[in-house]
Amino acid sequence: MRFISSIHVAIGLLLVAFAGGFYTDFKAEQRHDQSVRIQLGLERMLRLNQGLTSAIAMAVLEKNSLRAASYPSLLIELEATMRDVLNQTRAMMLASDVQALNEEQKALRAVETEVFELMRQDRWPEAFGALLASDYGMALKLYEINSEAAVGALTIELTNTIREHNQMRLLTLALRLAAVLLLLWTGWRYSTRLQVELTEQSRLRAALALSNADLENKVQQRTQALKAVNHQLEILSVTDGLTQLANRRRFDAVWTDEWQRALRLGTPLAIIMLDVDHFKAYNDHYGHQQGDACLRRVGEVLLATVRRAGELAARYGGEEFVVVMPGASVAHAMAMAEAIRANIEATGMEHHYSPVAGVVTVSLGVAVKIPTSQDERNSLVQAADAALYQAKHQGRNQAVLFSRHASSDLTLKPKAPTDPGTTTASA
Ligand code: GH3
Ligand code: MG
Ligand code: MG
Repeated sequence: MRFISSIHVAIGLLLVAFAGGFYTDFKAEQRHDQSVRIQLGLERMLRLNQGLTSAIAMAVLEKNSLRAASYPSLLIELEATMRDVLNQTRAMMLASDVQALNEEQKALRAVETEVFELMRQDRWPEAFGALLASDYGMALKLYEINSEAAVGALTIELTNTIREHNQMRLLTLALRLAAVLLLLWTGWRYSTRLQVELTEQSRLRAALALSNADLENKVQQRTQALKAVNHQLEILSVTDGLTQLANRRRFDAVWTDEWQRALRLGTPLAIIMLDVDHFKAYNDHYGHQQGDACLRRVGEVLLATVRRAGELAARYGGEEFVVVMPGASVAHAMAMAEAIRANIEATGMEHHYSPVAGVVTVSLGVAVKIPTSQDERNSLVQAADAALYQAKHQGRNQAVLFSRHASSDLTLKPKAPTDPGTTTASA
């Protein structure tokens, strides 16, 4: 707003300067024309006066009144010129000089009228005398002197006017210069302010970009952290807190997937279910804390033993565990069960109150099948459970395979130990 008003002032100054310049030029021209006209008028008056004087003088000298015939027309011309000069000089300082000239002229005319009167009466010597009288000659001389004085005054006035106009021209020039300088100054201030604003803007943009990048960075970090936490939570939600094995939830999910896959591909699916022998007695005698430690150790053995990709060891609940083995043959599943059994026994965890051995042992039930669409998903788990029951029944610390011969449809009934078709593996 400040800049706009400065521009307005500058434009105003320029307009005033131009208008002032035009006005000064116009006035100077006008005054010059007027002076020229006055000067011409004065010269003309002088000439006409001389004409009148010589016309009347010739008439008197030649005693011929006809010789004065041109006098009236010259007089009319002189009076018209005098009026014009009087009008032109009315507002000027030489107006009084011209007025005095007019008076002197009237005095001259009075003498001449008297001479004409004497001429009409043919009194030539008197007419001649009147013309030569000192009054008339003196008036003529004065008239000439005053005419020159008037021209001098006119010249002075003209000089003064020219000086005034030159001053006006200088003033308008100064105004124009001031306007141009003001415009330049305004432009400079404006560009400086613009520069400052542009710099500030780019600084703000840079700061914004920086803070945006910072924000993005933080968001990324938070997202990463959140992802990590979510991942951790996911792991925790499927991990058993005590043994760090997969928990029952994970087992259920994996089991559902593997069952579907085996069904689709027509591949065998094996499950081992194991239970710590006489664990109640262990708890009762060694305490619950020791019981927990024992379960943790069993978990470690399972993790160390079940190592193939795709195989999963999970805590099924309490002191019961399961191992899922997709694609495993009966032989492989039984070998794994036996390895687990042996490895747990080999840990040598003391269990004085177990009638089976002096150390902690486990019983295992194994079931293997290529699932069919008629089979229940849980049937194989129940078969393994049945085999485990049988292992317990047969004296514990052993692995028992659920037999197809005894129950081809995977019924829950475990095979009797005396049945010749029993496939039993024991330590
Ligand atoms: P069996 O050989 O027939 O399996 O005998 P058992 O004593 O192990 O029989 P049972 O399955 O009835 O006993 C299981 C015990 O396991 C009962 C319970 O106190 C204990 N138990 C279950 N979960 C935990 C646990 O997380 N920590 C501890 N310390 N004990 C548990
Ligand atoms: Mg149990
Ligand atoms: Mg038990």
